[in-house]
Amino acid sequence: MSSAAGAVTDALRELRTRFAGVRDGEPADYIPQLAMADPEAFGLALISMDGHRYSTGEVDVPFTMQSVSKPFVYALALCELGLDGVSRWVNAEPSGEAYNAISLEPGTGRPDNAMVNAGAIVTTALVPDTADTPRFDRILDCLSRFAGRQLDVDEAVYASEVATGDRNRALAYLIRSAGPLPVDPVGAVETYFRQCAVRVTTLDLAAMAATLANGGVNPLNGDVVVEEPVAAQVLAVMATCGMYDTSGDWLLRVGLPAKSGVSGGLIAAGPARFGLAAYSPRLDPTGTSVRGRIALGALSERLGLHLMHNP
Ligand code: GLN
Repeated sequence: MSSAAGAVTDALRELRTRFAGVRDGEPADYIPQLAMADPEAFGLALISMDGHRYSTGEVDVPFTMQSVSKPFVYALALCELGLDGVSRWVNAEPSGEAYNAISLEPGTGRPDNAMVNAGAIVTTALVPDTADTPRFDRILDCLSRFAGRQLDVDEAVYASEVATGDRNRALAYLIRSAGPLPVDPVGAVETYFRQCAVRVTTLDLAAMAATLANGGVNPLNGDVVVEEPVAAQVLAVMATCGMYDTSGDWLLRVGLPAKSGVSGGLIAAGPARFGLAAYSPRLDPTGTSVRGRIALGALSERLGLHLMHNP
């Protein structure tokens, strides 16, 4: 192993050890099935552009993607409609609000961005059924190609979110009432629940982030999942909006496009360099993994990963 590779492995191991004792926060319980997660599970993984995998901790424990699915479905919508076609229906401005805010842009009725729930429901709605493939199967196929293996759905988490998802349904009705969206957000919200329940591991998420960082080409198998401009567009929106109302502070301190989810998954990408993922279900009040946030922040500082950094 080269010394650079050794430094990455050492850093991941040391940071996991340093932060494994953090007991702040609890797993999400507003989707009851998520509360069953082991609060001590803690995985960290990094995949480089040559497909090398570095990892430590519980990187093979399955959990659901939740909001980490949003950038990848946004990518699929961008492939389908192009940036201008998607931007007619969902903006790309940081909202400064929580992920589940009941809020649309005054005048246009557009959600602020595709990383908050309102915007993600619209991007899911913008993925059409094709003659032989229903919308959800297209989404699952896309997520699987980003990960480099066939993913599946955690049916118990899906059922739990269907049973408790009225706030997201309310958002879908609000979107439908507010504007001329040519597709039905109310029907799409049930698909959105299913995409949130797609099961991954920390290593899968690192591969997905690495594919975005690698211009849309999965570094594990060479699959061209999306074109390079789409990967860049997704990373740009992750940089400005991926951490909701902490996106500005995250970009300031950590300096990487990122996306969190309420199951405790967190991804970050270093364009042309690496994909990173953390998993730890203890959440802060914004719905982000407590240990994931501090571990990726410390890793960025230690390895000099901040994008604005001039080494
Ligand atoms: N499925 C969750 C919800 O819609 C996703 C939220 C999240 O991960 N921030 O409430």
